[in-house]
Amino acid sequence: MKYPIVAYGDPVLRKKATAIEPDEYPHIKELVDNMFETMYAAHGVGLAAPQVGMSMRLFVIDATPFEDDDEGLKGFKKTFINATMLDETGEEWAFNEGCLSIPDIREDVYRCPVIRLSYYDENWKHHEETFKGMAARVIQHEYDHIEGKLFTDKLSPLRKRLIEKKLNDISKGIVDVDYKMKFPAVKKGR
Ligand SMILES: [Zn+2]
Repeated sequence: MKYPIVAYGDPVLRKKATAIEPDEYPHIKELVDNMFETMYAAHGVGLAAPQVGMSMRLFVIDATPFEDDDEGLKGFKKTFINATMLDETGEEWAFNEGCLSIPDIREDVYRCPVIRLSYYDENWKHHEETFKGMAARVIQHEYDHIEGKLFTDKLSPLRKRLIEKKLNDISKGIVDVDYKMKFPAVKKGR
């Protein structure tokens, strides 16, 4: 089952998501499958639960479309539950990021190249792992979602000003997109 993807401006994207317990979600694998299905239909490489309206610490990544570009992405299809960022190191580097909740906007974002992450997989197995390069990048983007942050927060005041109208349009549903989205309610005029 595919979920609609929540668009920029929805308060759920701004909430710090809560950790989940195994007993709370006995059907977590079904939820994970639905998230992958939603992500593939939108041609994304990552999707976080808040983006489908669920404020929980869960995100999925399938970066295998880019495995030829980066050795670290070979077979990189993973589910991250209750992730905690332990460390981010190295000199920040820029990469042109986009987001399924913010269609049609791509901007250079600076992030550290090496991260250390604690998380559980879909079988509730615990991992503590180091990721580098593009793998780290995709995780950092999705991790921001469960912290209530968006890549546009990281832009310079000038870039923010330049895309402000476009962001407002997105929240009103004024955007061309080929996957199902949910736009925050448009405020009625006075
Ligand atoms: Zn995103």
